Amino acid sequence: MATYTHGEAPQHEGLQLRVYFAGGEVSEIKLVHVEVHENCEYCEGYAWFVYDLISTNCPELYKTPAGGCAYSSKFEKIERFEVIGK
Ligand SMILES: [Zn+2]
Repeated sequence: MATYTHGEAPQHEGLQLRVYFAGGEVSEIKLVHVEVHENCEYCEGYAWFVYDLISTNCPELYKTPAGGCAYSSKFEKIERFEVIGK
């Protein structure tokens, strides 16, 4: 379902993105880091977005108000994203 690969996502580190999550959440984030775990003999691998939240249509999903705090989300929950700024 994802429209990108693990390989290209790290190019977006440091950028502001609008992310469309599975389940209807749409959030604007600053992508701090892409954590990729692969080529592992113990699991099938995973990747995470680590990000600061700028705004969201689902504030109940976040324990603290927008701004300042890093959150993470597995790639599988991210349907697509677009770059909105630097
Ligand atoms: Zn592993």
